[in-house]
Amino acid sequence: MHLVTFTEDGKTRLGVLDRARGEVIDLARAGPGLPTDMLAFIARGESALAEARAAMTSGAGRLPLAKVHLVAPIPRPGRNIFCVGKNYRDHVQELRKSAATIAARDAIPEVPIFFTKATSSVIGPNRPIPAGLDPTHSADYEGELAVVIGPGGRAITRQDAMRHVYGYTIINDVTSRVLQGRHQQWFLGKSLDGFCPMGPAIATADEAPNVGALRVLTRVNGEQRQDALVSSLIFDIPTLIETLSRTLTLEPGDIIATGTPAGVGLGFQPPKYLKPGDLVAITIEPIGTLENPVD
Ligand code: MG
Repeated sequence: MHLVTFTEDGKTRLGVLDRARGEVIDLARAGPGLPTDMLAFIARGESALAEARAAMTSGAGRLPLAKVHLVAPIPRPGRNIFCVGKNYRDHVQELRKSAATIAARDAIPEVPIFFTKATSSVIGPNRPIPAGLDPTHSADYEGELAVVIGPGGRAITRQDAMRHVYGYTIINDVTSRVLQGRHQQWFLGKSLDGFCPMGPAIATADEAPNVGALRVLTRVNGEQRQDALVSSLIFDIPTLIETLSRTLTLEPGDIIATGTPAGVGLGFQPPKYLKPGDLVAITIEPIGTLENPVD
């Protein structure tokens, strides 16, 4: 199932995307007992999903996709987005070759590197990335698979980890490369307003039983820049969940962006940073394509 948050006539609602028919099932109409925001919906777990499934078959509340406006599936996460740095080998190599001072200690990490992005950086599909907010003019894209946590928990083991995965979405971990390097900690350079495009949907975990087979494809103005299988992550999803939950309690709706593969703008010489008029499209099937123009 593909869960979306959308607006229609200025009102924000939850829906199920029917990609085959190009429609959104408005859950406020088709399942009026359901929660009206994604965090509450996720927290309700399997019972909400079952009700949404029933709503899909009822025929009620169907709207043409063209008539609604998709926003980020979780427009304002409950807390910062957890992110992983340097989690694909070929990306570590390109950082090493670049002139940037982001990560002078360039070895393949021995443990996952975590940082976060501010909740206020989230924007939806098709919204412009405000690259002009970066005073250093070094905004860069990072296509990433993001894990959405379902049942929360602490001290989750690798063996149990996938039972805590609710589904997957796409995140563009937009980064000011100069701010990232200048301030030591990556938070500032990763948290500018609008620097976290998310969407277009949350594909529930059953849509991707073999997550390693998912492929992250990023195009800028139609030119392919990133292409990698999730199976090439240095630290896989169970390891990330185990590591995070060893220190903090994961909560329903938490988001973990798993890292970006090679092919970011910084990896080119000279770097290909984002500029107004660019169009960034990140495709990870079966989630869909997250597309954003650059302002
Ligand atoms: Mg990243």
